[in-house]
Amino acid sequence: MVTRMSRLFLRTLREDPADAEVPSHRLLVRAGYVRRAAPGIYSWLPLGLRVLRKIETIVREEMDRMGAQEVSFPALLPKEPYEATGRWVEYGDNLFRLQDRRGTDMLLGPTHEEMFTLLVKDLYSSYKDLPLSIYQIQTKYRDEARPRAGLLRGREFVMKDSYSFDVTDDGLRRSYADHREAYIRIFDRLGLDYVIVQAVSGAMGGSASEEFLATATNGEDTYVRSPGGYAANVEAVTTVAPAPLDDAAIAALPAAHVEDTPDTPTIESLVALANERFPRADRPWTAADTLKNVVVWVRQPDGSREVLVVGIPGDRELDLKRLEAQLAPGEIDAFEDADFAKHPALVRGYIGPEALGEESESGIRFLTDPRVVAGTAWLTGANQPGKHVFDLVCGRDFTADGTVEAAEVRPGDPAPDGSGPLELARGIEMGHIFQLGRKYAEALGLQVLDENGKLVTVTMGSYGVGVSRAVAAIVENSHDEAGIVWPAEVAPYDVHLVATGKDAEIFDAAASLAEELEAAGVEVLYDDRPKVSPGVKFKDAELIGVPTIVVVGRGLAEGVVEVKDRLTGVRENVPLDDVVAQLAAR
Ligand code: ATP
Ligand code: MG
Repeated sequence: MVTRMSRLFLRTLREDPADAEVPSHRLLVRAGYVRRAAPGIYSWLPLGLRVLRKIETIVREEMDRMGAQEVSFPALLPKEPYEATGRWVEYGDNLFRLQDRRGTDMLLGPTHEEMFTLLVKDLYSSYKDLPLSIYQIQTKYRDEARPRAGLLRGREFVMKDSYSFDVTDDGLRRSYADHREAYIRIFDRLGLDYVIVQAVSGAMGGSASEEFLATATNGEDTYVRSPGGYAANVEAVTTVAPAPLDDAAIAALPAAHVEDTPDTPTIESLVALANERFPRADRPWTAADTLKNVVVWVRQPDGSREVLVVGIPGDRELDLKRLEAQLAPGEIDAFEDADFAKHPALVRGYIGPEALGEESESGIRFLTDPRVVAGTAWLTGANQPGKHVFDLVCGRDFTADGTVEAAEVRPGDPAPDGSGPLELARGIEMGHIFQLGRKYAEALGLQVLDENGKLVTVTMGSYGVGVSRAVAAIVENSHDEAGIVWPAEVAPYDVHLVATGKDAEIFDAAASLAEELEAAGVEVLYDDRPKVSPGVKFKDAELIGVPTIVVVGRGLAEGVVEVKDRLTGVRENVPLDDVVAQLAAR
C-alpha cells in the first residue's frame, strides 16, 4: 500500500533536539523516526519502526539460514537462575530489579544466558539432541550509567541474542564459526562499514570472543589494527614486554639510591630535575624511565571496595576502560583527597613500590604494567615527601602482586603477534560473539548423556547483535548535512515520490505512478501534501533519506519526471513511461 505523507503520523523538525550529541540521534529525532520517552528509552514512530523491522528481517533471515531456530523469552524474569550464576549481584547497578506484589524479587532481562540454558536443560538430555542453536529478537533492559547518543546506548533496546549448545569443544568451535559467518552476512547486508576485532570476554566469562565494530569517528570503542592483520578492541590488546633478566644479570645492576627531589609531584618536574641534578652517562632521563603509581578504588558489585595501586611507565596514561575490562565485574572509583588522609602509607606524588603489595605492611594490592619485568630499573617514588628512588629494580628491590593491562595503547606500539605497528581508530560495537564454554551449563547443571552413556556438561556460545543500535549506527555511517542516506536494504521505503505545484493533473499522475510502483514491488512514500511548498517537500525528502527521490512536477507536460539519487545527488529526467521499469530494476 502506498503511504501518503498527508496521513502519515509524522512531524519533521527544523531544530535539533537539545540533548542530541551525535548525528544519528539528531537526525532520527528530526526526521521523525523516534521520540524520547525517558532518558535512554525511545518510542518508535512509523518510519522508525519500518527500519527496525527491516533490520530484524535481515537478522532473522541470516540466523534461520545458518540453522538457528527462533524462540521468544519473557523480558520479566525470575531472580533464581541469575542468583545461581552469580549475576544477580555481579550485574550491579546495571540490572533493573523489581518486586511483584508478593515481594518476590524479579528482574528485567539484560541478556538471557541463564534462561536459555535452563530451557535446554528442561527439554534435552542426550548428545543426539545437539548441536542446537536458538535465538530471539527481543527487548533488553540495562540501567546504563550513561545512556547516551539516542539509540546507540539505550536503557531499553532491541537485541538479537543466540546461544549454541554442543557436547564437544570442536562442536562449539563450529557453532561459533557458523555464527561468525552469519554475522558477516548480516553486517554486509546492513550496508555497514565494519571491522571484526578480538575482544575481552569481561563479565560474561568464557574464552574466545570477537566484536563486530562499525567504524565511526565518534564511536565509544577504540580498536587497533596492524599492517599484518592483527585487529583487537583496545581493551583486549596485550602489551609486548621485554625479556626478563636472570638473577646474575640483575645482581650486576647498580644499587638503588634514594635522592632528594623537592617539588617534583609530576613526571615532567621529576624528569627535569633528574636531568639537571642526576644526569645519566648514556642518555637523558625520559618519562619512560619513571614508574608512575596510580591509586584507585576497585568497587565490587556487592558494594565492597579495595584500594589498588597500578604502576605504569610514566610516559603513559592509565586507560580506565582497559583497567576496568581487566577487573570486571569490579569498577573503578576515583581516590579522593580524603582517602589519602586515611591511608598514610600512600604519600601523594611520591608513592613507591616498596610501600605496596599484599605482603607489605600496608597490604595494598599493587599491580604493574607488563613492561615491568625482572631486571627493569625504575625511577619512582620513595614514599617520603620530596624523595624519589633511582635504580629500583623489579625482581630485586620489589615484586608486584601481578601485572595488569591498564596503560594506554598508543599508535605505533607493536602488535602482540609481531605483525607490525598498531594504528588506532574508533567504532561502535554492533555484535559480539563469545565461546562461553561450560561456565553457565555448570552453574545451572545442564548435562546430557554422551555416546557412552556418561553424563557430560554441555559447552555453550553466546552471540549478540544490537538491532536498535544498528538503526543509529547505520545513520552514523551514512548521512550528510541535509539528512539521512539509507542503504537500500534497510531504507523505510524504496522511493520518495514528491508531487509539486497545484495542478490536479500532477497529483493524479503522481498518485497513479505511486500505485504502479507499488504494484511492481517498489515501496513508495508519496508526498501528496496539497498546500506544502516544493522547498519544504524537498527538504523533508532529504532529511528522511529514502535512496531514490522522484519528483512529478512541471516536466509532466513534456512527459518526464525527475529521478534523483539521494546518495550521489545525481538527477535525471526519465520519461514517465519508463520510470516504473527503471526503478523496479534497482
Ligand atoms: P557495550 O560494551 O557497548 O556496553 P556490551 O558488550 O555490554 O556492549 P553485549 O552484552 O555484548 O553488549 O550485547 C550484545 C550487543 O547488544 C552489543 O554488541 C550491542 O550491539 C548491543 N547493546 C549492548 N548494550 C546496548 C545498549 N545499552 N543500547 C543499545 N544496544 C546495546
Ligand atoms: Mg559486548
